[in-house]
Amino acid sequence: MLETSIAESLTRIVGDGNVLTAPYDLDRYSADALTPFRAFRAGYAFERLADLVARPGSAGEVAQVVTLAAGEGIPIVPYGGGTGVMGGVLPVRGGIVVDLRRLNRIREISSRDMTATVEPGVVLQELVDALAEHNLMPGHDPYSVPIATVAGTISTNGVGYRASAFGPMGQQVVALQVVLPDGRILDTRPVPKYSSGPNLNHLFIGSEGVFGIITQATIRVFRRPEAQVFATVAFDSFDRGFDAAAELMALELHPTLLDLTEAEDEEIKMFLLFEGYREGVAAQERRAMQVCAQFGGRDIGPEPTLDYWADRHQSGERYKRNALGRPREERWNRQWGRRTDYLHMALPLSQVLEYRRRCDRLLAARGVKVVEYAIWSRPEFFSMMVEPVDPDRDGAGDNLAEAVEEVLTLAQDLGGVMEYCHGPGIKLNHLLAREQGVGHQVIRDIKQTLDPSNIMNPGKLGL
Ligand SMILES: Cc1cc2nc3c(=O)[nH]c(=O)nc-3n(C[C@H](O)[C@H](O)[C@H](O)COP(=O)(O)OP(=O)(O)OC[C@H]3O[C@@H](n4cnc5c(N)ncnc54)[C@H](O)[C@@H]3O)c2cc1C
Repeated sequence: MLETSIAESLTRIVGDGNVLTAPYDLDRYSADALTPFRAFRAGYAFERLADLVARPGSAGEVAQVVTLAAGEGIPIVPYGGGTGVMGGVLPVRGGIVVDLRRLNRIREISSRDMTATVEPGVVLQELVDALAEHNLMPGHDPYSVPIATVAGTISTNGVGYRASAFGPMGQQVVALQVVLPDGRILDTRPVPKYSSGPNLNHLFIGSEGVFGIITQATIRVFRRPEAQVFATVAFDSFDRGFDAAAELMALELHPTLLDLTEAEDEEIKMFLLFEGYREGVAAQERRAMQVCAQFGGRDIGPEPTLDYWADRHQSGERYKRNALGRPREERWNRQWGRRTDYLHMALPLSQVLEYRRRCDRLLAARGVKVVEYAIWSRPEFFSMMVEPVDPDRDGAGDNLAEAVEEVLTLAQDLGGVMEYCHGPGIKLNHLLAREQGVGHQVIRDIKQTLDPSNIMNPGKLGL
């Protein structure tokens, strides 16, 4: 528990009503969308709650909060929408949770530079709405558009429905303003490419806030498409659909949406959306459908993809209605009875199908079934939804945990990474050093230099 004087000092910085200390608030800010069931061996992380919540209203206030915390050696946890699914905001060592939602101004939309400059707590839907008035849109379009913030999505380097054409959120970043762990404010320059030394934006993309708090982001934006063509292709096997997707990529055909899904008791489908200028869209669609046909794909019309597209933000809307900002028990209760985990591995293209075969054997041996396989946005991004064959059997949860561990390390052993979408959070922390090797020591060295007392989101990225 922190001393009352810290709360008073924080109140002087962020103003009355913007320091929360009630048990109800400390509970709800000590959570994101990760449930204890899916955390498996990282269950320890739920034991500790935040000591205080501070809600700064400007970058200057963030810097003052950080300076205060640095002086006192108090941990700080940046908090965006709190919709992460890996526990990235859990205050594993207590301290101050810094809620960034009051920093929610859209500073500039430039149709000339094709950028938007926004504060970190802008929710993606707010950005979508503001950009639409300029006939623009963001490139990042996850399920969680109604609930996730710009800086949260940068800090997890999330992937969305348009990533096949525009790449993940990290690829949208042009410039950042970041409050470093000692309170200094770093600004990078809003140009698309650097050759005057390394591009420091990359230090903060996908870094879960361990190197600083993003207080402003300039991101790429795109003209809303002149034409949209939806298509759905059915395949007799996942492998054939996968080969078709690989061929699309080899030809540099990048539909905005590319999703190949094999779900229990359903036809294997590839959902495709082509967007852009009219002639380009027509040419892309024609050639892509020829490629799919070469691999045995059958055109089953646009409807399944139209439905899929219309529903894509539904889970985010439901989360907003039933879970967002609620106490932990309420969030967790939504998942009661669900014994499912979802996994998102990235592998070299040549390894994906072999990986799937080995996962099938390994999971079956552990009494675990795959209810859905998918590639999302590019064939290297392979996802599985897994659950115990018999969830009521003794030890089913432990078996699932062991199976997941084996699946993740197998991805690493085949040259891949264990997560392409959500960040390691607390869930995958323990496997990062295994994956990164010397790279992890380098990350540690950087952390030691920038944050020697390890106050900035301690316990994340394996630090
Ligand atoms: C229903 C639902 C659907 C989802 N769909 C998708 C999807 O399609 N694609 C996808 O990628 N993810 C998805 N997610 C996961 C989640 O929305 C993303 O991980 C999102 O990027 C998190 O954004 P956030 O603002 O909620 O961040 P938070 O959960 O608040 O934080 C995430 C991480 O970023 C850090 N952070 C937050 N703000 C800052 C800041 N200003 N500076 C530095 N660090 C910061 C936090 O400390 C934490 O480590 C989904 C989640 C839900 C609940």
